[in-house]
Amino acid sequence: KETQAATTAAETTKAAESKAEETKAGKADGVLIGVAMPTKDLQRWNQDGTNMKKELEDAGYKVDLQFASNDVQTQVSQIENMISNGCQLLVIASIDGSSLGEPLAQAKSMGIPVIAYDRLIMNSDAVTYYATFDNYKVGQKQGEYLVEALGLEKATDSKNIELFTGDPADNNCKFFFGGAMDVLKKYIDNGKLTVKSGQTAFEQVATANWDSEKAQNRMDTIIAGNYSDGTVLDAVLCSNDSTALGVENALASSYTGKYPIITGQDCDIANVKNMIQGKQAMSVFKDTRTLASQVVKMVDSIIKGGEAEINDTKSYDNGTGIIPTYLCDPVVVTLDNYKDMLITSGYYKEDQLK
Ligand code: BGC
Repeated sequence: KETQAATTAAETTKAAESKAEETKAGKADGVLIGVAMPTKDLQRWNQDGTNMKKELEDAGYKVDLQFASNDVQTQVSQIENMISNGCQLLVIASIDGSSLGEPLAQAKSMGIPVIAYDRLIMNSDAVTYYATFDNYKVGQKQGEYLVEALGLEKATDSKNIELFTGDPADNNCKFFFGGAMDVLKKYIDNGKLTVKSGQTAFEQVATANWDSEKAQNRMDTIIAGNYSDGTVLDAVLCSNDSTALGVENALASSYTGKYPIITGQDCDIANVKNMIQGKQAMSVFKDTRTLASQVVKMVDSIIKGGEAEINDTKSYDNGTGIIPTYLCDPVVVTLDNYKDMLITSGYYKEDQLK
């Protein structure tokens, strides 16, 4: 009996030892990962960057985290530096999805895998995986929210709406705007929605760099031309919170009618504050912790020689073919559930929203 117990103990030790060997062979220790984020100007990218850095470091990696002030050339140089500094994998949230061809070709020639983070990188066969929130669903949820909140199904009159999306070089935009318009177009066509400015084409409603001030200026002009005579603006579709903020600032300075229903995305602090004050109806919450964790898992699988978990193999063609993708789920946040989603979940502390 004793010999048997001894054998079992020896086996257990052996199993533990081989497990330790496996982890060592898994080479997480000290491997340098490059993380390129577009800008520090927007709250979400700071959170994305910080969350990823922390989780990667906790898993034993070293991290070269860079923000590029929304400047394409800066991002290109940062990626080149990451490659020459010995990064063994790159995670990139691109500024312009089509401008990274050269550094990525270099990455590919050196066998460095690339994960496109949040935004797809276009026309490069160096992109190994893509991880994001379901961008089409984000737009769809904004559209559905407006249909419901405006009571369009039963409406007998026409409601006035204006449309704002983001940067044309951001591949996400066509999904956000497309997803929303797939829901709203029917009502524009049947006259239940009217876009008084007449600006409905993607190029007309885009906002360079997702810049709040640019959205504000465009909204100012729209108000002056269409809503300064007492005409009511019922709703504004905004693809994200930075554009919504610009629209909200324009309304505060030059619109006096009934306040419109405004959509957003990201649950930025300024916008959640506005939501609490009744100045924004909803925001689509994309918990950056979820995406960061998923990407850290991807990194770990790739570095350890395995395949990363994906759940979409049909939606995202970057011009060189379909990129295997992991899609996280976006959630609608309103006054009704923001406490649960944002405070109880630990995303924000209550006093950050005061
Ligand atoms: C992201 C949004 C963000 C926007 C502006 C998009 O690509 O998906 O979450 O609001 O960029 O930075």
